[in-house]
Amino acid sequence: MSDKPVKKKRVNVRRPDVMAKVQAEVEAHYRSEVVDLVKARGNQLTIGNTTVRLAQKFGFCYGVERAIDLAYASRRVFPDNNIYLIGEIIHNQEVNAQLQKMNIVSLPWKELTDDYDRLTEDDVVIVPAFGAPVSYVEKIQEQGAQIVDTTCGDVMKVWRRVKSYAKDGITSIIHGKAGHEETRATASHALGPEKNGQYLLVLTLADVAVLTDYLINGGSKEEFMTYFSGKTSDGFDPETHLEFVGVANQTTMLKSETEEIQGLVGKAIRERDGNTDKFKVFDTICGATQERQDALFGMLKRPMDVLLVVGGYNSSNTSHLVEIGEKELPSFFINSADCLKSLETIVHFDLHQQEEVECSYGGILNREEPVVIGVTAGASCPNNLIEDTIVRAFELRGISRDQVLAC
Ligand code: SF4
Repeated sequence: MSDKPVKKKRVNVRRPDVMAKVQAEVEAHYRSEVVDLVKARGNQLTIGNTTVRLAQKFGFCYGVERAIDLAYASRRVFPDNNIYLIGEIIHNQEVNAQLQKMNIVSLPWKELTDDYDRLTEDDVVIVPAFGAPVSYVEKIQEQGAQIVDTTCGDVMKVWRRVKSYAKDGITSIIHGKAGHEETRATASHALGPEKNGQYLLVLTLADVAVLTDYLINGGSKEEFMTYFSGKTSDGFDPETHLEFVGVANQTTMLKSETEEIQGLVGKAIRERDGNTDKFKVFDTICGATQERQDALFGMLKRPMDVLLVVGGYNSSNTSHLVEIGEKELPSFFINSADCLKSLETIVHFDLHQQEEVECSYGGILNREEPVVIGVTAGASCPNNLIEDTIVRAFELRGISRDQVLAC
């Protein structure tokens, strides 16, 4: 008989007595008086010649709120146990730092290190909102540690879809970022329960062009595999595994891009087979991502001078808000109010250079005439960080926090 501990069930920390305390704690950490005030004023506040306009939907989504609640609840339910977290609970420095203060220790998420070998039955491991690869959860269960699973229901919906593809012998074409936690987890589920499913990850339209060209014209298998190195399941063979494909996507992608990719792959299959019998598609963009993108499109219908998008630089849904904004006006991806250095200078994450850079606003903020500053935030950004940004923007224009609150 194995001397490994018996697998433990996932723990439910959502006890009514605990949740009441947790909600008060979470509110104290992340609520914002200023954001509440701007919302109460119809999401727009004008003081003197400065207007700050907030998107109709921004910031924390239901999945993130739930994950944070469960992480806080874990500490209350297990006050004396070691509590670990696979990687980050969400893509936000402030929230992750808060969990560290609660002595919730982050474990590596890019590989199963020997930290996982040292887990015991007394330990608790939190699975983050974007989920974790199947092998990680199995390893934790083998160690007998207790699991608090905060995986968002919308992510699990994608998993169900790719698992059903695997069951039916359909290869999953996953539109997502290969290095993103959610896509890594989804890819592991695309192998299916028998671990014999197949997947291919695509991110850009250039990736899709390579895929559709191969679907229609065939070509060099070696070149195809070199191009998609690290983005396929083990044993993937384009000659056999592209016969029947199903598209799914990371929940936080740009909807228009995902739709374009779905259309292109479907069109290629039709061109190859004369029909789309061997093509399946399932839009798995989550409601919260969709709402934030739609709210930004709505906001962009009215003139603004600049857009500030607040969120963690590794946040996928936030980066797509920046992509939408920068097509229309100067848009800056900032992770805190500290990025607003002065009336002339801003530090922001440049999506094209993929690094944080310092640059000029181009004279947008330091002029006498009225200025409209748009603000939105990704699904992992708490309201207190949005408040700091609003207040800092007003302060740069000579308006104090007290003046904002007095409105
Ligand atoms: S962004 Fe969407 S999928 Fe991700 S946690 Fe929020 S609701 Fe869930």
